[in-house]
Amino acid sequence: MTTIALIGNPNTGKTSLFNALTSSYEYIGNWSGVTVEKKIGILTNKKGELIDLPGLYSLSPLSKDEGVTSKYLLEETPSILMNVVDASQLERNLHLTLQILEYGRPVVIALNMMDVAKARGIDIDISRLSQLLESPIVPVVARSEKGCEELLQSVDSNKESDMTFKIHYGDVLEKAINQFNDKLPMEVEHKRWLALQFFEGNQPVQEYVSAYLDSEWLQKLYDETKRALAIETGIDEIHKFIRHQRSKFIDSCMNLAVQVKISNKVTFSEKLDGVVTNKFLGIPIFLLFMYFTFKLTFEWVGTPLSDQLDHLLNGFLTDKLSMLLDTVGAAEFIKALILKGIIAGVGGVLVFVPQIFMLFLIISFIEDSGYMSRIATVMDRFMEGVGLNGKTFIPMIIGFGCNVPGIMAARTIEQPKERLLTILLTPLMSCSARLSVYSLFVGTFFTSHQAIIVLSLYVLGVVVALALAKLFSITLAKGEESMFVVELPPYRFPQWKTLSRSTWEKGKGFVRKAGTFIFGGSVFIWLLSYTGPHGWNVSIDQSFLHAIGSMIAPILHPIGFGNWQAGAALLTGFLAKEVVVSTMNIIYAAPSEVGLQGMITQFFSPLQAYSFMVFILLYVPCLATVGVIRKETASARWTWFSVGYALLTAYIISFLLYRIGLFIGFH
Ligand code: GDP
Ligand code: MG
Repeated sequence: MTTIALIGNPNTGKTSLFNALTSSYEYIGNWSGVTVEKKIGILTNKKGELIDLPGLYSLSPLSKDEGVTSKYLLEETPSILMNVVDASQLERNLHLTLQILEYGRPVVIALNMMDVAKARGIDIDISRLSQLLESPIVPVVARSEKGCEELLQSVDSNKESDMTFKIHYGDVLEKAINQFNDKLPMEVEHKRWLALQFFEGNQPVQEYVSAYLDSEWLQKLYDETKRALAIETGIDEIHKFIRHQRSKFIDSCMNLAVQVKISNKVTFSEKLDGVVTNKFLGIPIFLLFMYFTFKLTFEWVGTPLSDQLDHLLNGFLTDKLSMLLDTVGAAEFIKALILKGIIAGVGGVLVFVPQIFMLFLIISFIEDSGYMSRIATVMDRFMEGVGLNGKTFIPMIIGFGCNVPGIMAARTIEQPKERLLTILLTPLMSCSARLSVYSLFVGTFFTSHQAIIVLSLYVLGVVVALALAKLFSITLAKGEESMFVVELPPYRFPQWKTLSRSTWEKGKGFVRKAGTFIFGGSVFIWLLSYTGPHGWNVSIDQSFLHAIGSMIAPILHPIGFGNWQAGAALLTGFLAKEVVVSTMNIIYAAPSEVGLQGMITQFFSPLQAYSFMVFILLYVPCLATVGVIRKETASARWTWFSVGYALLTAYIISFLLYRIGLFIGFH
């Protein structure tokens, strides 16, 4: 079977092309050693498999996920490489293309975004460019699947062609390359590529060749070459020189094969950016965007759907199930476990599926439309003020969906201090799990202001994160700051197909969690509520759960919700924040006339409810998040720190809000 490796710069349409060329997944998982997504799909014509590699600008890795591609090229030998190139950004994209051509395996270039290039008056002489790069080039528009047939045919007819592409890097470097290659044993493949990558400073390659070559000798060769190059060309670093030579080659390609009909028209993207990233308007526009997000989630679409689901699940289904259990003569214990434990616990959380998918849909939209990098740009001013940069806001936005992938996205941040701070602070971003708690409480206490109340919680999370970033960066985590470099890709209206696919990719984690964590948590909590020091089937105020909750309650009294139910819910919420809702459903075992909402009004005032939501927002990251913090920081100390500071911060802020609220006269 043909293996095709898909390589290209970020945002060139790799995922779109992957979806267009493959009909089914063979494998989805992670690259070994790092949690970067690995996807392998079967081609629509069934003749081969396509491997999706992380997007990157150069093979020399800057961040962990970029190393994946180099390692892949060292360890595996794909039949053919498919290089996705953005036709509208040809000059920048070709740097990676040249490195791929040097690898020495057959290459087919998918020249994507032809529609965009055309709209910008960029005219590419494809057969000329193909001659210059000595490789087949197929123009495509991945988004509308145009050219995909031709691309597959080209793969088929070129997978065995010989690659002879070579740039001459000048006598000094060519001599060094030859010396390097002469020392390598016969059986080692891709010699010239290895040599060039070695001189460019590609770390995985340097490690790889150190198995064959003496490291002192390598160092000497490197130093001598560097010196000789500096004397001959005045360029003091080898990698700069290599880049310079490639740029020269690319310039000549651009001159020979590309014509741009200059237009003075300001593009739509530029016009929009003038407004969206405007110094004064940027933040208000972002807030407005978030406000509409919550309007959609809570008032217009999500909650109405959720109510219907609730009706179906807790009314109709529960009745039917309890009838069924009666008919089969199930024991009282089993009946209670299923109805009061599992259905109440898991069902109580599943009713939030509509809100959570709505939110994920909007986050996918932010990612795919290009708005994400604008938000990073707008936030850069604030982030800089606290010792971070705008790029660190991207993991945080991802954290709005779920903190776990947010923290993993911090890998793209190169500077260690900024990375650590991002990992520590992303848990303060209000994730979708917390949404289920808000949904319950705002639906009960703040019916006419749901969106604005939820928005205030999200903003609070961000503000607290920024304040703590400042604090931590002057006390704990000192280090250099990096430059802000985020590119602004042109705006695109995402396609429904990709949007729904990535929404599902994110949302299915929630559904899976309902079947695992929340299920287990519900059974466990129900058992704690069903049993007590004096035996089984006790009334709830004789139960273990009551005993545990009562121990915590006095501590919570000063912040407004010193009842044992809240204490028990917070404790179990550490498993996953949704379990807070499960626990409440189980504890209050609300009669259906009153409903859970009716029950909680007896235990919370609106101000106490707000304080409770703030506490839920800020207190300990959930179990899965703690796990990923441990993994990413590789430090037990920082992991404990992340739990400790969060608890303390949550307590202080809830206390202040509650006390000030009381003082002003809220209740
Ligand atoms: P990746 O980051 O390389 O995986 O790129 P994606 O596949 O996520 O694409 C980035 C954006 O470009 C998405 O909004 C796509 O819908 C859009 N896109 C992909 N291919 C094309 C194309 O050929 N033409 C246009 N106009 N947009 C495209
Ligand atoms: Mg992608």
